[in-house]
Parts: sequence; structure tokens; C-alpha cells
Amino acid sequence: MVPTPQTVAAGKIVGIYYTLKDKSGAVIDTNRKGGKPLVFLHGGGTILPALEAALLGLAKDAEISVQLTPEQGYGVAKPELHKRVPRKAFPAGRELKVGMHFNSGDGKGHNVPVTITGFEGDEVLVDHNHPLAGAELFFQVTIAGVRDASAEERQHGHAHGPGGHHH
Ligand code: ZN
Repeated sequence: MVPTPQTVAAGKIVGIYYTLKDKSGAVIDTNRKGGKPLVFLHGGGTILPALEAALLGLAKDAEISVQLTPEQGYGVAKPELHKRVPRKAFPAGRELKVGMHFNSGDGKGHNVPVTITGFEGDEVLVDHNHPLAGAELFFQVTIAGVRDASAEERQHGHAHGPGGHHH
């Protein structure tokens, strides 16, 4: 008897190779070059929920193209997230340029990417929107593997082992 292959479902450990492109076809991100899949607990919040949902029912080696709206991706760009901060809030001696990205805390322990959009006097104009806010996302995903989560992985809420979380 040939065993039925595992398929992606909530609570499974899933490995994927992915390429993310923008509308123009430019590659934004990919993990296909390093040879190691991204391994995550399905439903654990590691990847975008809409992308996770698109993988349901797929088995190893399946390939899928997934198009996400900005709402399903990193949200719609919000004008109120354009702010101005004093130059001295940035590392001293570091040359600042339009288009540079910084990580700034949001006070809740998350890293928020900040993009410099301009300068005015002693102030730096920054955009707190995610760099991919407002962007349609085009993913090409290959399922690298699907397996059951261990009791420990379920308890921790993330994948362990190669490609997963290390303690
Ligand atoms: Zn753990």
C-alpha cells in the first residue's frame, strides 16, 4: 500500500520555497537561492494568513502562484503614518539618505520598518508604513515538505529543527 502523502493543513509543519514579486515582476524576496526551505507551523502566524490559506491541501512538490491584495498583504499605506522626527533621533554620524530603511520599536516589542522620505531643517521626514504597504504581492510557492507537528512544536506554536526555530 502506498501511503497517502501529507497535505498542508492547520497544525502541520510545512516547508516552502518561495519567490515574491511585485506587480512589475521584480523579485522582492526569495529563499530559493540558499537551498533551504522556510519551515513553519501552519496557523502559527509565521507567514501571511492569506498565503497560508492558499497552501491548504497541497502536498510536497506542488507549485502554486498566489496573488494577494494589499489588504491581504502588508496593508494599505496610511497617510497618517508619515511623520517627522528630529535628526538627533537617528544614530549620530550616520549619513542619512532618502530611501533608507531603519527599524524602530513600536513600544510593544515589535520592529517597525521606517523609510526616510525627505528632510526639512533639523527634521527627518519618515514613513512608518511597511515598505510593502499598498503593494499587490505575487508569490510563487513550491511545497518542500509537510509533516506532523511534534507535541513540543504544538505547545511552542512554531516549527523546530532545520529551517525552524532553534532554542
Ligand atoms: Zn520552540
